[in-house]
Amino acid sequence: MSFSQHEVPSGRVISPLSVRTVLARRLSRLRFAWFLLGAFFGAALCYYLVTLIHHDADYSKKENRERALKVLAAHLAPLPALPASVPARATAAAPVPAAVAAATPEKPGIMLPASYTLTIERGDTLVSLLTGKDVAQDEAYRIVDSMRHIYDPRHLTIGTSFELHLDKGEDANHPIVTGLSIVVSPLKTVTLARLDDDSFRVREIKAPVYKSMARAGGEIHSSLYQTGTESGIPPQMLSEIIQAFSYDVDFQRDIREGDSIDIVFERMHTDRNVTAGYGKVLYASLVLGDRQLTVYRHVSPDGFAGYYNGKGESVKKALLKTPINGARITSGFGMRMHPLLGYSKMHKGIDFGAAIGTPIYAAGDGVIEEAGRKGGYGNYVRLRHSATYSTAYGHASRIARGIAPGVHVKQGQVIAYVGSTGFSTGPHLHYEIIVNGAQVNPAGVKFRTGQMLAGREMNQFKHEARQVQVALSTLPRRTQVAQLEPR
Ligand SMILES: [Zn+2]
Repeated sequence: MSFSQHEVPSGRVISPLSVRTVLARRLSRLRFAWFLLGAFFGAALCYYLVTLIHHDADYSKKENRERALKVLAAHLAPLPALPASVPARATAAAPVPAAVAAATPEKPGIMLPASYTLTIERGDTLVSLLTGKDVAQDEAYRIVDSMRHIYDPRHLTIGTSFELHLDKGEDANHPIVTGLSIVVSPLKTVTLARLDDDSFRVREIKAPVYKSMARAGGEIHSSLYQTGTESGIPPQMLSEIIQAFSYDVDFQRDIREGDSIDIVFERMHTDRNVTAGYGKVLYASLVLGDRQLTVYRHVSPDGFAGYYNGKGESVKKALLKTPINGARITSGFGMRMHPLLGYSKMHKGIDFGAAIGTPIYAAGDGVIEEAGRKGGYGNYVRLRHSATYSTAYGHASRIARGIAPGVHVKQGQVIAYVGSTGFSTGPHLHYEIIVNGAQVNPAGVKFRTGQMLAGREMNQFKHEARQVQVALSTLPRRTQVAQLEPR
């Protein structure tokens, strides 16, 4: 037995001491494993917590941003100021955009610099609005004074909005104005800026104006002139159209119900599409019954503008058939019973009935031969156009300024105004065409036709006409002339 006891291989002999050592090692290995496991779970827990915190932080940031935006909105919109604690909390909780920090509105304890958008209301003046923001009265008056040479703030209309920028000044009770900008019209903004020497620089900023083609058209009611002016078409544009057609159309007699007009013209506008004005009529088409007349504007290389038909032929003829707008023929050329003299007499001209003061146009380019009183003609103007042709105009209420013998006039220039002077039963223009010293029937006068464009100028004209055709095919034809935007 003892042998057996000693048979135990030496290496395997486990003394009570070595058993304790092995146990201790195992224990430490076990502890280490537990430690590793614990560490792993610990790390996982940490990661989870960090994620959780992070998420929470994100959320609170978002909330802050929303709160900040609310504060900003509250400032920008003319709403009552939020309680002072709200912006303070927002600023404390998270970095808030600078605009918000700078934009703490309302007194008392106004935070500067500050910016406002104000609107002129009934009873407001620029001074009252400035002093309402605690700007010192003398500063407010100084601002009005420095603006006056460019824009008089007394002309501010209700609804005009402006931006005001304030900052700290020497006087703690009164902020100073660092900038001001008034939108006077869609086309014009007036700005004021404070300079280093405390003076103000005032400037007028004009919105850039663009030119594009516009189209208007519709049925003509009453006279073209009346339809147009009632619709807000600028009178100078209508005069252009009437003059372009006046060689071929008698606007009183030739136009009937159902006739129509279609025009393409230049329109000036801002980038926000606000009308800034009108330019030239580029194209006009009149449909009179089954007759269609079309004209295109073209400027010759030497700078003379005129209207041409689709073939490139100038519509300008020697003399206007009707030297007046919106008139009706009340008496033609020929034998008639004279209303005042009471016996038959040759009427050597054409009478156009029209209201007193209606402008009378020179029927063609020429030189004034006579301008003044002339017996039964009353106020009378005679114009020599060439060695052969003259025209005469009678019964005028007055002769236009600057019209005197020897003065050169352009076709279409106003030379006198309709009246009823001399032997006349009512306001009308007595118009004569004189050929080689004798009055002739204007209806029988063979008017010289216009010149035809040629060569490069003709090519240029064709190019322009094509552009108008493109505009016609892309721009909608409005049903009424009335839809042309008024100025
Ligand atoms: Zn007459």
